[in-house]
Amino acid sequence: MKIILMGPPGAGKGTQAEKLVEVYQIPHISTGDMFRKAQKEGTELGLKAKSYMDQGQLVPDEVTVGIVKERLAEDDCKEGFLLDGFPRTVQQADALDGILKELGMALDRVVNIEVDKAFLVDRLTGRRVCRTCGATYHVTNKAPKVEGVCDKCGGELYQRNDDKIETVSNRLDVYAAQTAPLIEYYQSKGIMSSIDGSKSMEDVLADIRSALGSK
Ligand SMILES: [Zn+2]
Repeated sequence: MKIILMGPPGAGKGTQAEKLVEVYQIPHISTGDMFRKAQKEGTELGLKAKSYMDQGQLVPDEVTVGIVKERLAEDDCKEGFLLDGFPRTVQQADALDGILKELGMALDRVVNIEVDKAFLVDRLTGRRVCRTCGATYHVTNKAPKVEGVCDKCGGELYQRNDDKIETVSNRLDVYAAQTAPLIEYYQSKGIMSSIDGSKSMEDVLADIRSALGSK
């Protein structure tokens, strides 16, 4: 099973990725992990990527694409893989097509977990963190026994700047704008499945599995 998994922040993509790699026994290939692995092994491309990141610059596509290619050529990807965080642009999607052709592979499905912006805003802005021990809560989904107080240590709960409504709303808009062309690209190839991510974790997983078929 060769899959790309997409979804906005807060849609539960990480949890679904974990479940899917277990169900289908395929490697989870995230861009972050790939970069770290290439750097650890000191490959030429890994070192190149590191030099850009050390300078706080974006890693150019040719380097990222090269690292993806090296990773997908490894033995454990022969039967399938789950790509997470790549491609991010249509240019990268085109490059991925080229890589897969060279390797004699084809994507089975692109799964996009879709969730309403209002729902994601609720989910993301409801997070609270303990100042003392770092435990996380949610005002509705995982509320502490006493409002504003940590169950574990009695510490004060606060909202991180990252979880404030303006930041969350902006992050979601940027994501939506960046991914819209990519979604169209895979829709036009007829391999895109949109999954309603507002359901429970189990139901979302079941919907993804049925979209992937019995393969
Ligand atoms: Zn605490």
